Amino acid sequence: MHKCARNETLFKWSAVALSIVVALFAIGAPILAATIKNASATYVVVVDAGHGGADAGVIGVRTGVKESALNLKVAMLLGEYLEGGGIRVVYTRTGDVMHPHPDVAGNRKRADMFYRGDVIKKSAPDAVISIHMNFYSAASRRGAQVFFDKHNEQGRQFAEIVQEILNRDVNPELGGREYSALSAEKYLLECSPRPAVIAECGFLSNPLDEAALIDPAFQARLAYSLFQAVVIFLNAARG
Ligand SMILES: [Zn+2]
Repeated sequence: MHKCARNETLFKWSAVALSIVVALFAIGAPILAATIKNASATYVVVVDAGHGGADAGVIGVRTGVKESALNLKVAMLLGEYLEGGGIRVVYTRTGDVMHPHPDVAGNRKRADMFYRGDVIKKSAPDAVISIHMNFYSAASRRGAQVFFDKHNEQGRQFAEIVQEILNRDVNPELGGREYSALSAEKYLLECSPRPAVIAECGFLSNPLDEAALIDPAFQARLAYSLFQAVVIFLNAARG
């Protein structure tokens, strides 16, 4: 009951913020757009495209598409929406790369994770969102699911908002199953006290999810839904 009341309020705030952004885009008003940018200039969001370079992540069961490539596409689209809304975006990668880290030798995956952790710690973001695609042994499993660190209360709230938006906008197209946000023990979620979520955007082990996830139009809808969720969370977090 309490949760529902809170979420209704969040949606109201979000509708106001988004309608301003959308209206500014529609009329193409650079002066007004600058005003909204200045008003929200202090918002910083880290957008993390999971995997990259030698670490392709999981592989699409039908087309062989790399998770790392899809993650990057969705992450860059999400970043464009956020920047369009006047939010400063810090990307952990913008290409098909793994980054080294001076403290880690001989384990490229670990070095890359430490690099990402440093990006988050240095940018002190208002939110961190990490984009991934899922894979499961049962090919029938479908849909987008969100994860948070159970020790991070704001992260849990952020994850619940993202999951709710994905259940509303995306999961009806990915098999129709609704998920609850779940806790997970992941370095990216635990490496800083900032609110962080991992969005597993669908299953590359399912051919229908895969077909949707490789479609540029679906990627754009997915990214826009994630953008909405970030805006709702930022509005709620700052009050
Ligand atoms: Zn992944």
